[in-house]
Amino acid sequence: MTSDLDELYQSVILDHNKSPRNFAALADATSHAEGRNPLCGDAYTVWLRMEGDRIADAAFQGVGCAISKASASLMTTAVKGKTAAEAEALFERFHEMLTGGATDLTGMPGGVKALSGVKAFPMRVKCATLSWHAMREALRSESK
Ligand code: ZN
Repeated sequence: MTSDLDELYQSVILDHNKSPRNFAALADATSHAEGRNPLCGDAYTVWLRMEGDRIADAAFQGVGCAISKASASLMTTAVKGKTAAEAEALFERFHEMLTGGATDLTGMPGGVKALSGVKAFPMRVKCATLSWHAMREALRSESK
């Protein structure tokens, strides 16, 4: 990865931290779940509004570090409009991007790739993944 790309990715995270997308409580949500990282002090609620099998809307609120907030912002943006199965698949790829050996990012949403650099900081991986875990938990509570 070139340093230009590093800078681009850095700017995506800074932008989403400063102006988080979908940063609101979702009044008509069909499910929600909470994600916490006590080590860092990150605490978020993720809401989903399902229409059939599709995520019609996604939003989050809470407090935490720049990485956790940017990741939640990117996550809600990425899963909106996706089916539950597509969101689960994206979760798996995202998790693998940060914890596994695979580095093939083909087809990953552009902004989400910006978080791949977090992999170099194992202490921060939880910051990046907690809202994704909450999203998946909300998805699964929906299908019960
Ligand atoms: Zn954090």
